Amino acid sequence: MKIWSDKEKLSREEIRKIQFKRLKKTLNHVYENVPYYHEKFTAAGVKPVDIRTLEDLRLLPLTTKEDLRQTYPFGLFAVPKNKIVRYHASSGTTGKPTVVGYTKNDLKVWREVIARIATMGGVTNQDTAQITFGFGLFTGAFGLQQGLEKVGAGVIPMSSGNTQKQIMIMQDFQTTTLIGTPSYALHLAETATEMGIDPKTELFLKYGLFGGEGSTEEMRAKLNEAWGIISTENYGMSELIGPGVSGECQAFKGMHINEDHFIAEIIDPNTLEVLPEGSVGELIITPITKEALPLIRYRTKDITKLDTTPCDCGRTTARMAKITGRTDDMLIIGGVNVFPSQIEGVLLGIKGIGSNYQIRVMKKGYLDRIEIDVEVINQDLLLSVTLLDQLYKEIESKLHTILGIHAGIHLVEPKSLARSEGKAKRVIDMRS
Ligand SMILES: [Zn+2]
Repeated sequence: MKIWSDKEKLSREEIRKIQFKRLKKTLNHVYENVPYYHEKFTAAGVKPVDIRTLEDLRLLPLTTKEDLRQTYPFGLFAVPKNKIVRYHASSGTTGKPTVVGYTKNDLKVWREVIARIATMGGVTNQDTAQITFGFGLFTGAFGLQQGLEKVGAGVIPMSSGNTQKQIMIMQDFQTTTLIGTPSYALHLAETATEMGIDPKTELFLKYGLFGGEGSTEEMRAKLNEAWGIISTENYGMSELIGPGVSGECQAFKGMHINEDHFIAEIIDPNTLEVLPEGSVGELIITPITKEALPLIRYRTKDITKLDTTPCDCGRTTARMAKITGRTDDMLIIGGVNVFPSQIEGVLLGIKGIGSNYQIRVMKKGYLDRIEIDVEVINQDLLLSVTLLDQLYKEIESKLHTILGIHAGIHLVEPKSLARSEGKAKRVIDMRS
């Protein structure tokens, strides 16, 4: 398996050396050019010169999405507007979006890190890659497009939606690589089957590069089975660069972080203390080569753990485990902490039900109540009271034994739940 860059094979010592050098440069850059950071550092009683080792990074204050909101639109930019060559923004579900900018060099870095994760996933210049992320203000599609082109793959910028046409193009252009969210990839497979096309034998997919939403091993198994592909997961966030922060190699032991561009830490989300390697906590990322928007110790809200032990693929960069949840989507049901991804893990492990589901959380009197709509996999099942009852009991008891929650289960007809063309909305919390 090819490794795109020698930077992915450096010794731990060399990686740390590069990280420290670039961190110092970034700290000076924000201290001098971003008044907001200058004040924040001053309030915390720390100057860039106080950072003498990589570990000293923890002396610096954390940055949150709230900081970006408060400085909307360009308050955290570290370069003048004439150096910005691209803008993106994330959705603002409440109020204003979060705006990010790129210099020419930032775009170059973006292409590079995408080329690396595409290579990890198996993509070469022999491949044709269909991008089903939306081209627009979101960061996903453009970064992937340019990085894949850097690898030499032929890019089909389909954008999101138009599912039947996606299938037609996949067939006619002989697409070998599918880029999108895991939930949309499953929806595509379902649609192909409905159109009378077997996704495994009548289409040409070899690889799936998935991201944009969390996924589980059970989801991967479903995707690989439905399409006959090798699927890898990758991780990113528009505030940090977009996709390209980390990607999975084919040893499937976590996502390799592009550590010469990003420093990762894990903190306890409650005490904000840095945790030792291997501990589960919130991922904090500091980009160390960004010019336009270098955020310092950005709180991703994603829960994971880090591993720097050698990987079978030959890369030496640290790996982050699959995201097991977000600090802000953790559900507390009757005092039990549950992540929607854990519920998904249980559901996808049960035969007879589909991969689409919806979680509703509500109050019944003073008590939390969780209800889950689950699609059965075929119509016949709905006709047998015995089978339905068995299935119902199996789901209920597994959720209780594995996660410790009592959930109301509603088995619904195949394909009756809404399909998403981007990130799936799995949870509706009606308590607030
Ligand atoms: Zn690896």
